[in-house]
Amino acid sequence: MQRPWLEHYEQGVPHEFTGEMLTLPQLLERASETFAARPALEFLGHRQTYRQLWANVQHFAAALQHLGVQQGDRVAVMLPNTPQFVVAFFGASLAGAVVVNTSPLSTAQELEHHLTDCGASVLVMLDSFYPRFAEIEHSPALGVRRVIVTGIQDALPFPKNLLYPLLEKRKGTWVDVKESGKVVGFVHLFERHFAAPTPSSLQPDDVALLQYTGGTTGMPKGAMLTHRNLVANAQQAVSWMPGLREGQEVTLGAIPFFHVYGMTVAMNLSLLIGANIVLIPNPRDLKTLLSAIEKSGVTLFPGVPTLYNAINNSPLTSGYDLKTVRACISGSAPLPAETARQFREITGGANLVEGYGLTEASPITHTNPVGGEQREGIGLPLPGIDASIRDDQGQAVPTGEIGELWVAGPNIMAGYWQRPEATAQTIREENGLRWLLTGDLATMDGGGYFKIVDRKKELILVGGHNVYPREVEEVLYQHPAVLEAAVIGVPDEYRGESVKAFVVLKPERSAAEAEIITFCRGQLSAYKAPRQVEFRSALPLSAAGKVLRRVLADEERAGRMAA
Ligand code: AMP
Repeated sequence: MQRPWLEHYEQGVPHEFTGEMLTLPQLLERASETFAARPALEFLGHRQTYRQLWANVQHFAAALQHLGVQQGDRVAVMLPNTPQFVVAFFGASLAGAVVVNTSPLSTAQELEHHLTDCGASVLVMLDSFYPRFAEIEHSPALGVRRVIVTGIQDALPFPKNLLYPLLEKRKGTWVDVKESGKVVGFVHLFERHFAAPTPSSLQPDDVALLQYTGGTTGMPKGAMLTHRNLVANAQQAVSWMPGLREGQEVTLGAIPFFHVYGMTVAMNLSLLIGANIVLIPNPRDLKTLLSAIEKSGVTLFPGVPTLYNAINNSPLTSGYDLKTVRACISGSAPLPAETARQFREITGGANLVEGYGLTEASPITHTNPVGGEQREGIGLPLPGIDASIRDDQGQAVPTGEIGELWVAGPNIMAGYWQRPEATAQTIREENGLRWLLTGDLATMDGGGYFKIVDRKKELILVGGHNVYPREVEEVLYQHPAVLEAAVIGVPDEYRGESVKAFVVLKPERSAAEAEIITFCRGQLSAYKAPRQVEFRSALPLSAAGKVLRRVLADEERAGRMAA
């Protein structure tokens, strides 16, 4: 197998993965010793040092053990980016539990499916999410014995903790909860004294996290990510970012930690290098986000294309100085070239590189080298990652041709939780390597740089020709009035399928359907250009900021049925 990307590894960046095997609690404990008095977390202007964070994590671990949590138990965490998220995540890990990231956007029914599937015995959640749990709390299949509730105010010192709910006009009734029935207050746990947590016999290959994902096949299922997977991926990303200054970086923690991209790139990577993480619970609140970058002098800004795009196009942006930002990895979805160019301009030349990954790989497998040669696409495999483009029979395709991207490395999941069949469809053992079949179509050029063409199952077939939605979206993004765009296939009597575009226009810009279609026809073969354009005020986004083409396709199907 050819590995032309190895030629681009600079001296000092190992080809092989050389990261030390650690569990996540070991990673944080080390950091608490090395960076003891450095700020680890900053939230609404309040900081906690690495030493304080580790003390809080130990306290929370002891509290969980007091509540009966044992090694291997599942602890679900449903929190936005807050200090409580970090404490709950590492505290549960230290107690030996498996954390289950739970999206704050889940409906009561989704939450029920999720909690039942993973068999969580404890749920840690924000007070304002509690009503969704209350709706399903008596479901017979649910094994949740304890719910630990916390409010934003719990992360603030006195008297701000008391003022916050008043200022925010919050009607929370859960703020003062001590212990009643199943429900325990987070603050209450911190008011009590517990003996130090009993050390668990955690090993790096134990599962640390169940991360739910649709994966390449249908229903959400829990990717089992081990301590080694998660620590390795943070180590791989660090080794790929020369120039990171230990103990000096300031990371913007805006992308959600309950998605593995935010967890690895914004949280774990930062803790590994002793960075100060500025926590932003709501990344759509651009005012808070921009002012945090300026006030805290953010240097690292991991994000998603929709977030960079929102900053590029917001009238608020010009009021803030974003020049401290040095390095940004964009992940989770394709980064339109125009978005990257504008963002670099706004920040005075920040290094914004496109990365690629998926939940099952903890998640990053490729990025363009920070500070190295950039090529359009997702760049080179990270140190320790093997990558190969295969046809439907599993044979490697010639250089430059399209096939499915397979990846192997220390960051590839152990499998799907209680889904051996789905695991067998996704993981392939071959000559001692465990390959993950990504479900993404990609190409590799002669220099070992990769490009994602599209998702295998989102390919559109127009009169027998392949249309990759992403190619059409790239063109749409070049139209001066287009803010966001997504493309799907819709049934077409003559062609089997044809292309339909969904477009959000920039504020105060207008464009007619015919104009957009003509614009695309000017740059694409006729069969690739959209035949319909629907204007929307917003596109459906996942919590990680990915445009959900699947939701658009479902809405389209429902519309056809109703017609
Ligand atoms: P998730 O498991 O939710 O993180 O989704 C992973 C999927 O996001 C991948 O399989 C890709 O389809 C898509 N994705 C992530 N990064 C990129 C990228 N840079 N370009 C194109 N697609 C991406």
